[in-house]
Amino acid sequence: MNKRYAMVVDLRKCIGCHACSVACKSEFDVPLGYWRAWVKTEEKGRYPHVRVSFLPRLCNHCDNPPCTFVCPVKATYKRPDGIVVVDESLCIGCKACIMACPYEARFSHPSKHVANKCDFCYHRVDKGMVPSCVNTCVGRNRIFGDLNDPNSEVRKLLDTQEVQVLKPEMGTSPQVYYIIPDKDTLIPTYKYHNDIERRAFNASNDHL
Ligand code: SF4
Repeated sequence: MNKRYAMVVDLRKCIGCHACSVACKSEFDVPLGYWRAWVKTEEKGRYPHVRVSFLPRLCNHCDNPPCTFVCPVKATYKRPDGIVVVDESLCIGCKACIMACPYEARFSHPSKHVANKCDFCYHRVDKGMVPSCVNTCVGRNRIFGDLNDPNSEVRKLLDTQEVQVLKPEMGTSPQVYYIIPDKDTLIPTYKYHNDIERRAFNASNDHL
């Protein structure tokens, strides 16, 4: 049976340290101002009753990935194990996939001029290791594994815990699942303004 990779992020344990973002930067030599994985911070409430929550973000490796459908040269595709990848040797840099992703998970690499994003560190996974962000997470709140393996931690978590995905209404079937802090807490509303700011920042540095 094919493997079917997924990630569970336990928001109850995330302390917003950004170790994952930095590990990802280091693993892929991600240019300044761009992120393949990042942590969104959200403040709730009013002083003195304020709470801060953290939402680690990355490509969702959707089961129904719109980014792959729009690629005119099939440079981005979903592997049989579920990992959505970009073949840089085929990418023509048209940015159609960047526009198609509802999660702003992709960016145009400023020097390679091809699409770039998280690929679950498949170069590590294919050698039996976990993605770099999972390896470095100090709270061990990122769990990666094979959903088709009944004994895997991700499978057991999905079978026993209440999880959420981002923007389920988009019908993309994300394979990054979030365990929320408590039953009544929805994932912090996925606010566009931060991501628009991030995209604008990326665009303004596109020439570098
Ligand atoms: Fe594609 Fe975006 Fe889904 Fe990743 S999160 S598979 S880039 S649509």
